[in-house]
Amino acid sequence: MIWVGTSWKMTKTLAEAASFIDELSAYPAPHGIQPFVLPAHTALASVRDRLPDGSPILLGAQNAHWGPEGEGTGEISMRMAADAGATLIEIGHSERREHFGETDHTVSLKVAAAVDHGLIPLVCVGESSAARDAGQARELVTGQVVAALSRVAPSRIGKVIIAYEPIWAIGPSGRPARPNEVAPVLASISEVVAEISSGGSPLAILYGGSVNASNAADLLRDPHADGLFVGRAGWTASAFIGLLELCAPFARECVHARPDTWRTQ
Ligand code: PEP
Repeated sequence: MIWVGTSWKMTKTLAEAASFIDELSAYPAPHGIQPFVLPAHTALASVRDRLPDGSPILLGAQNAHWGPEGEGTGEISMRMAADAGATLIEIGHSERREHFGETDHTVSLKVAAAVDHGLIPLVCVGESSAARDAGQARELVTGQVVAALSRVAPSRIGKVIIAYEPIWAIGPSGRPARPNEVAPVLASISEVVAEISSGGSPLAILYGGSVNASNAADLLRDPHADGLFVGRAGWTASAFIGLLELCAPFARECVHARPDTWRTQ
């Protein structure tokens, strides 16, 4: 299974979200590709209601609080996210770490809460350009992974998705990463997860950060990449469909392919 998803971040009115979903729903997702879309909270339920019955497209929220309910102005709980249609919960995106006080500690609380609610945490990890220049990318990223999974029983780590997103590669000012810059970090993530889960692996390891139609295939050739997590290049349905098409040939080559059991767990 190759996972290919887009976070809409802080974009899309309800009408824009509906039009994206209508166009995407008319496209039959290639076999072996798991598409997912993370709308803003405002659009999540309406997008869920817009998807045709049996749609293969999974939805997620871009953030949710670890607490059950009540004190958390401006936040939504895991239960509320699930109720609005989320299967995935994005946690620890670098923009949230930088601007909204997300820390390794709160990431770990959210990952545990998501798993407890039967949701799939999509944990974002990634180093700054300064850390990379200092040769600390793998150490920093594996530290983030260990912290994020610290409250999850080893037997449940297979329910978590890790997205490696180097901060210097994300967004309009980001520099697209070369596959040889990504590969050692993806390998280290795979190794550290195997260590802490006694030989297990996460549900998927994704790469994200300025992924586009020109570099998607090269990035997916990495044997440790189970998919791509896309921002801007997935913000129109036609561009997102183009990426799904580009990824289709890799569905059979994925070394981490595993039985599609997560839907029922
Ligand atoms: C992101 O912010 O997670 C992301 C991958 O963004 P972009 O693709 O726009 O760099």
